[in-house]
Amino acid sequence: MIDIETVLAQKTELLCKGLYLDNELIPQYRKHGIDIDFGRKGGAGPSGGRYFLLEDEHTLVNVALWNNSDKTELFLKENENNYFEIYNNNTKDSFGKLKLIQNPQFYNPEFKTSDGIPMKKIALVHGIDCLASTIYQKCVYWACGEACTFCGIEVSLQNNATIEEKTADQMSEVITAAIKEGRCAHMTLTSGTDETIDKGANRYIELLKGVKGIHPDIPIHVQIEALEDLEYLNKLKEAGADTIGIHIEVLNEKIRRDITPGKFHLSYNTFERNWKHAINLFGNNQVSSYILTGFGESKADFLKDVEKIISIGVIPYITPVRSIPGKKDLPITNFEDLIEIYKESAVLMKQYGVNPLENRAGCVRCGGCSAIKEAYKAS
Ligand code: SF4
Repeated sequence: MIDIETVLAQKTELLCKGLYLDNELIPQYRKHGIDIDFGRKGGAGPSGGRYFLLEDEHTLVNVALWNNSDKTELFLKENENNYFEIYNNNTKDSFGKLKLIQNPQFYNPEFKTSDGIPMKKIALVHGIDCLASTIYQKCVYWACGEACTFCGIEVSLQNNATIEEKTADQMSEVITAAIKEGRCAHMTLTSGTDETIDKGANRYIELLKGVKGIHPDIPIHVQIEALEDLEYLNKLKEAGADTIGIHIEVLNEKIRRDITPGKFHLSYNTFERNWKHAINLFGNNQVSSYILTGFGESKADFLKDVEKIISIGVIPYITPVRSIPGKKDLPITNFEDLIEIYKESAVLMKQYGVNPLENRAGCVRCGGCSAIKEAYKAS
């Protein structure tokens, strides 16, 4: 069995590099449940990929799959005894083994909501038991040409993989189906930003009320950009949100302007006001922010900025940025640097009493896209 240091190293390297699928093995992969669906095909936020478990059987990792061997030296080999072997094509050494997490049954086209929408278009299972959905698949920043460079929210819509807006009834039906097969213990809800003053909070509130009325025991995480009017955070909490992600994405102000030009109009201080208010409302360890790596800041500067948000009580959900094929090619994070960043962030979290293992719902609880929890366990 692999130890926690190896888990941290393997997971971080996989997050940064993804896996190359050998063309000759495609029939084999299909037989074992890997759809041939390379790179990111869309989705909000910075991630997207297939879910695997490391050899310890409980560490989850969301891995990008590539059909171009220039993208990564980590090659996925045959499946033996339920594990895919991985080897490093440069060194020819064995890297480790991964178990594919199978897709849920409700992805099959015969599973539809009562208004006839395939359930797969309403919500997806991330990892083992985190049901996730983008409740509104459009974003004001796309409309005005100021979209975040890593975001694929409207690509999913163009690919007909989803519908523009989901209702509480549709969501509740998919939750019921997912619970039935053991694939929903908590939820992540995300959304594009609305141009209205509530930034989409009202849409969440309506949906939360409906879903919580039917599924009061499913903890729900919502993700929203920083608000000018903090009253909406109170309303989100009242409507049933259990945890919240207020995502700044990039902490360095100069890089933030380039990478998230639309969101950059919100000052860092606005984020800080939101985080502090949210921690008072949602409690310790229930407020997080995605922080992306790979944009060239020095490690020392990056960690200084990360310490600032940890000291407030925010969980930094640090994850390497991942490009969407056909869109801007984003830099690849050096995995060795990222391991150091994770380790030092974990030490900071312990120093300031922030514990990601106590988060109740959403990305931090799921943990597929960041090794922050593994670093915390290892520290
Ligand atoms: S951390 Fe989990 S829930 Fe969040 S985007 Fe990644 S896989 Fe989905």
